[in-house]
Amino acid sequence: MAKSVLIAGAGLGGLATALRLAKKGYNVEIIEKNSMSGGRLGQLEKDGFTFDTGPSFFSMSYEFTDFAKDCNINLPFQYYQLDPLYSVNFSRSPKTYHLYNEIRRLADQFREEEPAFEAGFRRYLEKSRRLYHDTNVVIKSNYDSMFQYLLTLMKVNPVHLPVIFRSFWQQVSRYVKSNDAREILSLVAFFLGKTPFDTPAVYTLLSYTEFMHDGYYNVTGGMYRIVEGIVDELKKENVRIIYNTEITDYISEGRTLKFLVDRNYKKWGADIIIINADAAVFRGRIFKRREFSEEKLNKMEWTMGSLTIYLGIKCKLPEIQHHNYYLGNNYREYADKVFKNPEIMEKPYYYVNVLSRSNPGCAPEGCESLFFVCPVPDLRLKKNWDDKDEIVDSIIDDFSKRIKKDIRPEIVSRTVYTPADWKDQFNLYCGSGLGLSHKMMQIGGFRPRNFDEVYENVFYTGASTIPGTGLPMVIISSKLTTERVEEYSAKKS
Ligand SMILES: Cc1cc2nc3c(=O)[nH]c(=O)nc-3n(C[C@H](O)[C@H](O)[C@H](O)COP(=O)(O)OP(=O)(O)OC[C@H]3O[C@@H](n4cnc5c(N)ncnc54)[C@H](O)[C@@H]3O)c2cc1C
Repeated sequence: MAKSVLIAGAGLGGLATALRLAKKGYNVEIIEKNSMSGGRLGQLEKDGFTFDTGPSFFSMSYEFTDFAKDCNINLPFQYYQLDPLYSVNFSRSPKTYHLYNEIRRLADQFREEEPAFEAGFRRYLEKSRRLYHDTNVVIKSNYDSMFQYLLTLMKVNPVHLPVIFRSFWQQVSRYVKSNDAREILSLVAFFLGKTPFDTPAVYTLLSYTEFMHDGYYNVTGGMYRIVEGIVDELKKENVRIIYNTEITDYISEGRTLKFLVDRNYKKWGADIIIINADAAVFRGRIFKRREFSEEKLNKMEWTMGSLTIYLGIKCKLPEIQHHNYYLGNNYREYADKVFKNPEIMEKPYYYVNVLSRSNPGCAPEGCESLFFVCPVPDLRLKKNWDDKDEIVDSIIDDFSKRIKKDIRPEIVSRTVYTPADWKDQFNLYCGSGLGLSHKMMQIGGFRPRNFDEVYENVFYTGASTIPGTGLPMVIISSKLTTERVEEYSAKKS
């Protein structure tokens, strides 16, 4: 039985896979480019404030509890449900919508714009529910071949076939009629890193997970507790994490990968090697595969870049919820341009998370730690970020107007990550925050596989392989990769 495992990358995918395998008796070692674990699920401590740098909530909480059960541990962090899930403000109106779990309470807010909203919304959720349950098998399976993927797709109830040909926006529009309702319900497509107009309608199943099946959750003490909790469990299993070690090369022998080689030419070997770095980029830039050459990577469809802002302010903002979206009046135009036209930044759409609202330890007394995310074009479309401060100032000004309080004089800590920073920190392709998009031809059997095409002892884990992006999907990915490793190991015994 192959017993030693080396994992390149200590993102959630690498950490979760490491714990699953360590619990099954493998000797696991992790090498990480940066000086801390977590990858995009990161943390910034600065000027007395603590910020989650990437994820600010998760859905499908049961994936985490199942993970803990599989590893035979108590979940090493505590989470709590967000209610409202989020709030949305349009620049066209002073009204702010609060998206509550309780449908009647949510629907009450649309009574004026769309009296029939509640009935339409319930029908929409019912369709999303059926989609979720009928496609679960597709999300939770490994595929050895395209044929096997297509066979799995054929198990999905054919009643959903028309959905394949629709966009998220078209699907939502069939059930609700007002612009406000359509824009609010389709916002979730932005979480997948594209716009509602180019995200497949099959992802409307997320609305069911948000509003009915489960909800949105934050972690007590901040999202980074997820990482700290798993790292503590890994220590108990004697899993070593070696930091500041970036893989740049490799040594192979026939169909076996012998070593990964770091920047300082040090060799790292094991019976089984798992890549948590981006599965397409690693195949292209490290393994030099033609299918993932620079030209091919450039032709793939990538999600938006992220401009993220971390502000510590010396006042409280009690009127702001945990999760808040600030949208303009030109939803369609914005969505059309965000990938193509850097000038769109003049009227940015953005999201604000107030971490200290539910986690007072994350800011000094009387202060607030704020996190802004603004979807922006990736580095192929906007290479130069010298104007980042201007853009950030315009977002802060807009936010101040919306909340009717000028926060500029209150700022005591300010940090900005542009797509260039995201790229440099985690080797993300052109600063694309969520990696490859989830168009039909880049999911399931079409997504970079979680086993290598050449080396039989190499596997991939995380958001860049199946099933896709987001923390619960990464946890599912760790399970699918573990199954691959177990199969390989059994074959070798
Ligand atoms: C701004 C932002 C907000 C987000 N918000 C949410 C949210 O609210 N909820 C949610 O569910 N998801 C969210 N996501 C998505 C979520 O962060 C990712 O899906 C998830 O963290 C990906 O985990 P991963 O392990 O696959 O990859 P990563 O976190 O990217 O981990 C990969 C690791 O590999 C390391 N690495 C890369 N190359 C090498 C190399 N050559 N050698 C050694 N190490 C290497 C990297 O440094 C990194 O630590 C957000 C993402 C971003 C960018």
